[in-house]
Amino acid sequence: MARVSYPYEAPVSQTLFDRAAAVTPGGVNSPVRAFRAVGGTPRFMVSGIGPYLTDADGREYVDLVCSWGPMILGHSHPDVIAAVQEAVGRGTSFGTPGEGEVALAEEIVARVEPVEQVRLVSSGTEATMSAIRLARGFTRRTKVIKFAGCYHGHVDSLLAAAGSGVATFALPDTPGVTGAQAADTIVLPYNDLDAVHEAFRAHPGEIACVITEASPGNMGVVPPRPGFNQGLKDACAENGALYISDEVMTGFRTSRAGWYGVDGVRPDLMTFGKVMGGGFPAAAFGGRRDVMEHLAPAGPVYQAGTLSGNPVATAAGLAQLRLLDDAAYDTVDAVSAQIQSLLGDALTKEGVAHRLQNASNMFSVFFTDGEVRNYEDAKAQESFRFTAFFQSMLAQGVYLPPSSFESWFVSTAHDERAIQRIADALPAAARAAAEATA
Ligand SMILES: *Cc1c(COP(=O)(O)O)cnc(C)c1O
Repeated sequence: MARVSYPYEAPVSQTLFDRAAAVTPGGVNSPVRAFRAVGGTPRFMVSGIGPYLTDADGREYVDLVCSWGPMILGHSHPDVIAAVQEAVGRGTSFGTPGEGEVALAEEIVARVEPVEQVRLVSSGTEATMSAIRLARGFTRRTKVIKFAGCYHGHVDSLLAAAGSGVATFALPDTPGVTGAQAADTIVLPYNDLDAVHEAFRAHPGEIACVITEASPGNMGVVPPRPGFNQGLKDACAENGALYISDEVMTGFRTSRAGWYGVDGVRPDLMTFGKVMGGGFPAAAFGGRRDVMEHLAPAGPVYQAGTLSGNPVATAAGLAQLRLLDDAAYDTVDAVSAQIQSLLGDALTKEGVAHRLQNASNMFSVFFTDGEVRNYEDAKAQESFRFTAFFQSMLAQGVYLPPSSFESWFVSTAHDERAIQRIADALPAAARAAAEATA
């Protein structure tokens, strides 16, 4: 890794990180948080309000991670906090059905037209794992098509050529996933419909489903080319397979109805998480009623969860979704466009080869010349420039995703003051990127 200087040390965070490393592998509970791709001390955050995070050393940052997507209204939105406090006051978990989970399911069904029924779970990983099991149970087939660079959580069978943390660490695969689990997964290059048609021809009657990120954000932002998602849907329909659109990241972020609201391609099953939990562990999968009715107790495919539909999590999610009206999405889109334009200008001014890609208000920058259509293209970027850029932004109080394979996220709370801070930090960061060496 290129040697970069860390102009601001974070002594309290470092002390916490040392304590964490003694009792937790790598000192973190999710790998990318450890800053291994960018170096330096991961910041331990103690509070968040609006677009800002404050770390254990008392330093404030403009947050462009937003908890990896969920905090679309910014941190500590008063209405969400009030809903949580009200729910907590009535108890935290009952292990019975409750009205909150019905209301959240109704909100999802009302927003996303292809979702006729939905089942709540606690993480995006659980949602995709359960959707795959359901697709296999429904079709009575075993094989799954996924795309290189798409991340669907740490589901065993989906950890082949996954993006996100797996991309950050360049792990081709992970120990602990058996050959049998991987053997039923067919990994194809993203944005390549010919490869999909070929796979269906090579495995007639065997493919249960195609799972894809609705618009990938886990290898950086790599949107589907026009017609790609429709092509997947058609190939599935022609071959008796289910089309699963993973909207854990894009759901209720890229529009009121997520990426479905942008491209209108109708999946058989969809998965959600992140935004729908309002910062709590709540996720979901849903879709065609005739498929969903195969789930226990209505049908034979087992799926369950002690904390599924948790009353505090569902209250947070519902409060957040109810605030996400058209005006809110207009705001998030405008903030995103403004930051993208500032970022592009700063890099251009310093002569840094870069490519900005976006999917509605999700965006990321690749330090490369050409279009990034798939994982191979994404991996060809000059990641060492990102490292220098990231450290400069961090030192100047702007918190970016600590990897060049992640989307940046903004919120309705990113106001003029927050955007000005980003604008002020960009010139020096762009210069650092220009001067970086491999
Ligand atoms: C984050 C993510 C997941 C996994 O969700 P967790 O809640 O982290 O388990 C799955 N799919 C996509 C597209 C994601 O972005």
